Amino acid sequence: MSKVALVTGGTRGIGEAISRGLKDAGYTVAATYAGNTEKAEAFKADTGIHVYKWDVSDPDACAAGIAQVESELGPVEVLVNNAGITRDGMFHKMSFDQWRAVMSTNLDSMFTMTHPVINGMRGRGSGRVINISSINGQKGQMGQTNYSAAKAGVIGFTKALAQENAFKGITVNCVCPGYINTDMVAAMPEKVLESIISGIPVGRLGHPEEIAQTVVYLASDAAAFMTGAVMTINGGQYVAN
Ligand code: NDP
Repeated sequence: MSKVALVTGGTRGIGEAISRGLKDAGYTVAATYAGNTEKAEAFKADTGIHVYKWDVSDPDACAAGIAQVESELGPVEVLVNNAGITRDGMFHKMSFDQWRAVMSTNLDSMFTMTHPVINGMRGRGSGRVINISSINGQKGQMGQTNYSAAKAGVIGFTKALAQENAFKGITVNCVCPGYINTDMVAAMPEKVLESIISGIPVGRLGHPEEIAQTVVYLASDAAAFMTGAVMTINGGQYVAN
């Protein structure tokens, strides 16, 4: 029986590449999404991957959704916390709604999604939790106090949870992508994007698959000794810590 991997925001962008990569590596994949049903159905038709719709910031929806995935496919052995949003703006002009939206989707989701699966993993003595943070959680980004704070929080969450569960055969790691060619980046003003690309030594945006392959590795048995790690994949863009 193949292992079950659950990828939040797994129908589009980086998450889509992760879902495809894990499927190719032999996992039974459940990919969640928030509301873009048209894209999710097209992805399902193309890949045969199971798709589920719920909001990762809603604890009850996560508990119910995970229970459904586990009853239909089996216990979640690999959890990829990938879903995320931006609501950019300079802090002095930022509304509390912008702040809360990013905090709840990008950081509360670490709790709402991981809490329902962690006891099962502990009981089985194995599991993988892989969280998608961001270069902007490492270095901070003007116009993204909310996003930078949430993504830095993901790194702290990863390191603490890794220590709590290492002895139970569970690894917890995070990946910090630099700028990757997805809808999230396409939504940025052209001038801002041009200046960002000029600061990437590789001279281009990353491809979603270049993140996905690291996630597939972290999910594998070969990565059993790696836990609490922060994998930086950003085309050489400088990270000031
Ligand atoms: P996209 O905007 O392309 O896709 C986001 C995915 O997350 C979609 O599947 C979306 O569902 C889902 N999603 C959004 N909000 C929720 C929610 N509340 N509940 C459930 N699912 C949700 O994002 P990317 O692929 O660009 O980003 C993926 C992750 O990588 C994010 O965490 C992001 O912060 C991070 N990242 C991205 C970088 C980049 O350059 N692109 C750089 C660094 C980090 P739906 O399709 O229904 O909207």
